[in-house]
This record gives sequence, C-alpha cells and structure tokens, in this order.
Amino acid sequence: MAVILCNLLGAAFLLPLGLALGSFFELAADRLPRHESLLWPPSHCRICGHRLEVGDLIPVLSYLELHGRCRYCDTPIDRGIPRREALSGLAVALPWGIGGCDHPVGALLVGAGLLLAGWAYRGWRLSRNNIRNA
Ligand SMILES: [Zn+2]
Repeated sequence: MAVILCNLLGAAFLLPLGLALGSFFELAADRLPRHESLLWPPSHCRICGHRLEVGDLIPVLSYLELHGRCRYCDTPIDRGIPRREALSGLAVALPWGIGGCDHPVGALLVGAGLLLAGWAYRGWRLSRNNIRNA
C-alpha cells in the first residue's frame, strides 16, 4: 500500500514538471527554427502580439480555460500544443507511477528518455517538413 501511494505521489509531483518541460520544448520548437531567442521577447500571441500573462501560460489548463483561442484576439490555438504538453507530462509521470518507488533511477531514466525521444521525433518531423517546403 505504501509503495502504491509513493508511486502516485511521485507521479503527481512529476506530472507538472513534465507539462512544464513540454511547454518549454514547444516554445523551443517554435522559436529556434526562426532563429529567435528563447528568452526574449516574453511569450506572446503570434497573431496579435499581445504578451501572455501568467494565467495564459499554464500548460494544458490555459488552453482548456480559453477554449483553444487567444484571450486577446480570439485566434484559434493549434490543438497539437496542449496534446504535446500532456504527452510530455505523461511521459515523465507514468514511468514513476508504474514503479518509481521500487526503481527510482530506472523510472526517471525511462521518463527522460520518453520525453527526449518524443521531442526529438517532433524536431525530426518539423525539419523534414521544412526541407520539403523549402
Ligand atoms: Zn492573439
């Protein structure tokens, strides 16, 4: 019983970390191909340019709260963004939830591996599409 609780608590702790990492990788996948800084300008809407507030930046939850649209100009937000953020959260949290307290190093390595493999695949797909469209 204690191991199950430990696994669940660990997964609950790692889920927001994975969501945040997914949100950061989403930013990097958007900005790096455009040769833009990861730090400046702060997060903003690509269409209206309005700077996003803290409440607009919570992975997955902000998308759900805003019904998938920019709070300021009502432009639809790509549905893939919250999906990739959620998958990142699950990639980090699920291995721990399955057996992290028995095998903590293995669970963290599997979680990090899934996260990095998923985003490497995303980067590969984006670069392949850019080559095709060039
Ligand atoms: Zn906007």
